[in-house]
Amino acid sequence: MFESLQDRLGSILNGLTGRGALSDKDVSAALREVRRALLEADVALEVVRDFTDKVREKAVGSEVLKSIKPGQMVVKIVHDELVEMLGSEGVAIDLNAPSPVVVMMVGLQGSGKTTTTGKIAARLTQRDRRKVLMASLDTRRPAAQEQLRQIGEQTGVETLPIIPGQSPTDIAGRAVQAAKLGGHDVVILDTAGRTHIDEPLMVEMANIRQKANPHEILLVADALTGQDAVNLARNFDDRVGITGLVLTRMDGDGRGGAALSMRAVTGKPIKLIGVGEKMDALEEFHPKRIADRILG
Ligand code: GDP
Repeated sequence: MFESLQDRLGSILNGLTGRGALSDKDVSAALREVRRALLEADVALEVVRDFTDKVREKAVGSEVLKSIKPGQMVVKIVHDELVEMLGSEGVAIDLNAPSPVVVMMVGLQGSGKTTTTGKIAARLTQRDRRKVLMASLDTRRPAAQEQLRQIGEQTGVETLPIIPGQSPTDIAGRAVQAAKLGGHDVVILDTAGRTHIDEPLMVEMANIRQKANPHEILLVADALTGQDAVNLARNFDDRVGITGLVLTRMDGDGRGGAALSMRAVTGKPIKLIGVGEKMDALEEFHPKRIADRILG
């Protein structure tokens, strides 16, 4: 799948076959193409810079082997570095805590939080045989709590009964209490989003966190988030302290550069990806696949 970068690098570097080591100048020319490919894939600029610096260190002075074209060699170095930066494969949601384990979903409005809450709850219920309670803490959008209730009905997962007028922190407290009384293994809190990050949102998330003491805090983000991905991930991580990432809309046309951006600035694992609107459209994260896709 990454022929295109290889093609681009081929014309620049392939004259070098069998000529010894890659020089600084050869590598600089190749890295211009790598940079372009990463920016086209929506990787944030500062992450592209760090990434190309790392690749430069590895590539300069590399022996140009007779058996492999220099373009291919640089693509391999780039690919390996991408996989390393994207992190480990199949990092599961950590439920290793006393019941009920609290999982808090955070992110901007429209990122796919509610859908992902339903997908995770359905999977834990159906595949892992856990007793799950979902609660919507979104008191800003009138339909939000009802949306989660319907998802619960559709997937056979229990939702916290809606009591109009309660604050998000009060709902969080009630959810944890209900899960304790109900003998639930897991309680998933679906928080409210905003169209962009603002102070009241961060304060609300911090308050919910304090009240519910979540074991996992998953930042849900649209894979099509471009340059904003860095800001988004950094803000949520600094202010709320995320434990992992979920990227949604990976079924779309985007190349998924946000995965690299968000992983790079937070160091937190990408735990799952959303690949559609249906409740079973949830997959494990495979760094190699995403690396192929980013390289295009
Ligand atoms: P929230 O505001 O963050 O809770 O976002 P929602 O969960 O309501 O999702 C917003 C829209 O995105 C809905 O129409 C979902 O069906 C859709 N959506 C969520 N995840 C995915 C995904 O992985 N792929 C696609 N194609 N659509 C998704």
